[in-house]
Amino acid sequence: MSSTDTKTHSPEAVKRASVVDLRSDTVTKPSPEMRRAMMEAEVGDDVYGEDPTINRLEHRAAEIFGREAAILVPTGTMGNQIAIKIHTRPGQEIICEERAHIKDYEMAMLAQFSGCLPRTVAGEKGIPTWKQIQRKIQPPTYYIAQTGLIALENTHNMAGGTVIPIETINDICDGAHSVKLPVHMDGARVFNASAALGKPVSEITKNVDSVMFCLSKGLGAPVGSLLVGSKEFIRMARIYRKSLGGGMRQAGILAAAGLIALEQGPKRLHDDHGNAKHVAERLADIRGINIDAATVQTNIVIFDVSGTGMDTADFARKLAEKNVLASGISPELMRIVTHLDVDRAACDHAVNMIEEICA
Ligand SMILES: *Cc1c(COP(=O)(O)O)cnc(C)c1O
Repeated sequence: MSSTDTKTHSPEAVKRASVVDLRSDTVTKPSPEMRRAMMEAEVGDDVYGEDPTINRLEHRAAEIFGREAAILVPTGTMGNQIAIKIHTRPGQEIICEERAHIKDYEMAMLAQFSGCLPRTVAGEKGIPTWKQIQRKIQPPTYYIAQTGLIALENTHNMAGGTVIPIETINDICDGAHSVKLPVHMDGARVFNASAALGKPVSEITKNVDSVMFCLSKGLGAPVGSLLVGSKEFIRMARIYRKSLGGGMRQAGILAAAGLIALEQGPKRLHDDHGNAKHVAERLADIRGINIDAATVQTNIVIFDVSGTGMDTADFARKLAEKNVLASGISPELMRIVTHLDVDRAACDHAVNMIEEICA
């Protein structure tokens, strides 16, 4: 797409190239290096376990997380929902934070697929404590639905990319395991947590029973997520992945890009975090916008625009007219996500445009 577009310099292409897309870190395009690796990838039928590139990616992911095994899934949603299915039985409850992705943005699959209900806790900036979770664990009474799983989200998307402190994760895991409950981590952006803490993902996730992480977000792959856990857990995951239609045959072409994302992607996430902080600090100076820049820890910036007299639909539309894309997550709250396809200059341009529409 892009190579011919940039060569022709059509007005349309120039216009498209000048769009600053801050809606999500999912919008990143594969690099030339990734495209080359995809073209040259060795492939086989992964349903028979014969795709060498997928096998390599799964092996590397398991190694990086210090776990027995991993499995490539097409989306983070599929990874999370397979994990939930394995950890629970129909009729159980899943304790999660009230704005959890698994509850709000995964098509009610925890009910559809696993037959479970969410039991929520309101975490401070999206971070629940063991104490809060403990109070929601159901007593072993035969006429009350039992708790089956505790799910953590790290970083927390809708709370603004907040990072769960490792001690909090370990506290929750210790507590959960003492009452024989498993813990799953929706680590779609766990590498952002790792960059923010300066700790390896293996240490962050050491005590959880399973982790899902996305290659397709800040790490820059076009497609793909991985689910990581014990050998037996991943054996079960393979069965459910096939049930959901996720047996992808020669998907080594995707895994080839995924391997580059996994090896190279984490190294540059601190740039995204620096850019997000910079955007937040500049936004804090704009009249009508309310944000505490100190709360921005990773690559997500959530800010209140109600003081501008615009709702977020208005705000996003006016901004889009200036070729800057951002999403409203409520009538008052806008979300900006920094990523590898927006550098500091593009971020500054975006804030300049926000200044203009707020003036
Ligand atoms: C993006 C995301 C997912 C997975 O999303 P997919 O679009 O299905 O890959 C899961 N959890 C969180 C917190 C996310 O941000």
